[in-house]
Amino acid sequence: MKVYFVGAGPGDPELITVKGRRLLGEAGVIIYAGSLVNPEILKYAAPGAVRYDSASLTLEEVLAIIRRAIAGGQVVVRLHTGDPSLYGAIQEQMDALERMGIPYEIVPGVSSYAAAAAAIGREYTLPGVSQTLILTRRGGRTPVPEMESLTELSRHRASLCLFLSSQSLAAATAELASGYGPETPAAVVYKASWPEEKVIRGTLGDIAAKAREAGIERTALLLVGDFLAGDYKRSRLYDPAFSHGYRGARNNNG
Ligand code: SAH
Repeated sequence: MKVYFVGAGPGDPELITVKGRRLLGEAGVIIYAGSLVNPEILKYAAPGAVRYDSASLTLEEVLAIIRRAIAGGQVVVRLHTGDPSLYGAIQEQMDALERMGIPYEIVPGVSSYAAAAAAIGREYTLPGVSQTLILTRRGGRTPVPEMESLTELSRHRASLCLFLSSQSLAAATAELASGYGPETPAAVVYKASWPEEKVIRGTLGDIAAKAREAGIERTALLLVGDFLAGDYKRSRLYDPAFSHGYRGARNNNG
């Protein structure tokens, strides 16, 4: 028997993977991060599955539940919001399982940064604008290395997606404005893919106030960069004058 770390996706229950959904149906024990995972997703669980909300549990308590379940011959699904590899605190769980000799597997999920781009209908990597996406957070109780401060990162003017920082948007946008400039387009996406999804658009100079007026305090991402608005170069991949391994160049009529 195994422990599966499953990405639940950003909220919409249809945005879990086919594999994640199948494993939910096979699990005897499901431990889910109740503060962020849409409880609707538990409709894929078997009726007899035992469910634990990890919001009120410590790492030790989660591990004790897993150990008992595996000893009892049960499949365990540990459900994390979005994709588990981002701010999922799964490394410490995997390392502990390793020490306990319990096998595990990770099933990726649709991260909220992808759901946010879908919500606003923009592409992060526009030719001539930016070919880089920075996924980061502002330092809080979890410190961020100095080299990764928002002031430092803003110097690249790459497309940027800020997690876990809805409570400190004013400070975050002020720091980001040092490199991007206050006129740079910004958006806040609240609960991407949930029925209560909200999108707020503005600039680095005004987005924090707009988000505050809209009452957004959690479960939101701040997106920053020129990818949000304006001009870009057409992709060479689909340019008729550009050949690649899967397609030869064509003339203008072709
Ligand atoms: N592993 C998750 C991130 C967990 S950290 C993922 O891949 O998306 C939790 C933070 O993610 C929240 O504070 C918020 O910034 C962001 N988040 C998670 N779900 C979201 C959603 N549906 N819409 C907007 N932001 C979301």
